Amino acid sequence: MMINHYDIVIVGGGPVGMALALGLHNSGVSCLLLEARGLPEKDEDPRPLALSHGSYLLLQRLGVWSKLTQNTPIKTIHISNRGSFGRAILEPQDAGVPALGYVVNYHDLFCAMHKQLTADQSKYIGGALVTRINTTENSGEVYFDFQGRLEQVTAQLIVLADGGQLVKQIPDINYQSHDYQQWAVVANVRAEKKQTGIAYERFTPDGPVALLPNDQDFALVWTVAPETVKEITELNNDSFLLRLHQHFGDRLGRFIAAGKRSAFPLSLKYATSTVSQRIALIGNAAQTLHPVAGQGFNLGLRDAYELACEIINAKNVSQELGTPAMLSKYLQRRQMDSNAVRTFTDTLIKLFSNDSKILNQACGFGLSALDCMPSLKRFIARRMIFGAKG
Ligand SMILES: Cc1cc2nc3c(=O)[nH]c(=O)nc-3n(C[C@H](O)[C@H](O)[C@H](O)COP(=O)(O)OP(=O)(O)OC[C@H]3O[C@@H](n4cnc5c(N)ncnc54)[C@H](O)[C@@H]3O)c2cc1C
Repeated sequence: MMINHYDIVIVGGGPVGMALALGLHNSGVSCLLLEARGLPEKDEDPRPLALSHGSYLLLQRLGVWSKLTQNTPIKTIHISNRGSFGRAILEPQDAGVPALGYVVNYHDLFCAMHKQLTADQSKYIGGALVTRINTTENSGEVYFDFQGRLEQVTAQLIVLADGGQLVKQIPDINYQSHDYQQWAVVANVRAEKKQTGIAYERFTPDGPVALLPNDQDFALVWTVAPETVKEITELNNDSFLLRLHQHFGDRLGRFIAAGKRSAFPLSLKYATSTVSQRIALIGNAAQTLHPVAGQGFNLGLRDAYELACEIINAKNVSQELGTPAMLSKYLQRRQMDSNAVRTFTDTLIKLFSNDSKILNQACGFGLSALDCMPSLKRFIARRMIFGAKG
C-alpha cells in the first residue's frame, strides 16, 4: 500500500472539483484530485449548463474558457408563466454586463477543464474510486480503489466534491432534502424559428420548461411529472415534438427535430453544515438544487473559487490548512450566497409549479411588475450572475 501526504485531497473531479484544483495551481499548495470516472464518452452527460457572466469570468481566470470548443451567448432571458399574461425580460444592460451568460454542454466543460488540468500538470488520478474517508484532529485519510489496488493518501484538508456520495461517512453532517416529484427531460431541439440568443424560461403547473440557445438550436430542459417521464422519453420523435409544442406554446413555431433524450430526477438536497473536522464540502456535495434559473454549477464554482482563496490566504501567512479557524472562515464566506440561491430556486418552484388559478395570476402579475421595475431587475439579475455579492 502506497502512502502519500498532500495539503489538499479533492474527492470528485466533476467541474466543481476540477475548478478547485485549477484554482490552487501554482499557489504552493500540494493538491491531489481523485476522480472515479475516466474521460467520459462524448454523449455520456448531455445536460446543458447555462453559465452566468460571473462564471465566465472565473473560468477565464482558471484558463478554461479558451479551451471550450462551443459556447452560445445568452443575450436575453424571456420569463413567462403559462395561463397568465405576465412576462419579464432580462437583458445585459439590466445588470450592466456584456452578456447575461453562455450555454455550454456539461461534457464539453468537463473535457476543457480536464485538458487544462493536464496542461498544468496537476496531480489528477482518473479511475480512482474513493471508498472511505477518516479524519483526526490533525489530518484526514482517504482510501481509494485504483486499478484493483487499495491505495491510501493523507491530507491536511479533504474536500468533498463528489456530489454527496461520501457524506454518510461524516458523523456530524446530514442532508436536508425535498423531492420535487419532478424530472428534467433534456434534449437538443430545433424549432421553425432560429435561435437569436434568447433563453426562454416558461413556468407551467408541471414545472418550468427552459429552451436555451445552443449553437444553431435550443437545449431543452423540460420538467415533467414522474409518472409521465417514461412515456415522454419513449415517444417517437414526431409525437415528442408535437407534445413539446403543445406544452411550450407557439413562440418558436413548431419543433422540427430533436436529438437524444435523457432524464434526471430533481430534488433539493443540502448539507446541514459544509465543514467538519478536516473536511469541506463544495458543489453538489454541499447543495444540489433544482435546475430552474440554471444556478447549481454557478454556485458550486463560487464554492470552489472562494475555498481556493481561503486556502491560499492561509498558506501565504504560513497558517496550517484545514484547521477549525480556516474552515469557519470558509463557512462564513459561503453561507449567505448558498442560502440565498437555494431559497431563490426553491421558492420559484413552489410558487410557480401549482394548479391554483389565483396564485397563477398573482405570479403572472409579479412577472409584469418585475418587468416594470429596473432597480428590482438589476437586483435580481446581478445576484443570479454574481451570487449574493452581486
Ligand atoms: C438537467 C440539469 C440541468 C442543469 N442545468 C444547469 C445550468 O444550466 N446551470 C448550472 O449552473 N447548473 C445546472 N445544473 C446543475 C449542475 O449540473 C451541477 O450543479 C454540477 O454538475 C455540479 O458539479 P459537481 O462537480 O459539484 O458535481 P458532479 O457534476 O456530480 O460531479 C461529481 C464527480 O464526483 C465523482 N465521484 C462521485 N463519487 C466519487 C467517489 N467515491 N470517488 C471519486 N469520485 C467520485 C463523479 O464521478 C463526478 O465526476 C443542472 C443540473 C441538471 C440535472
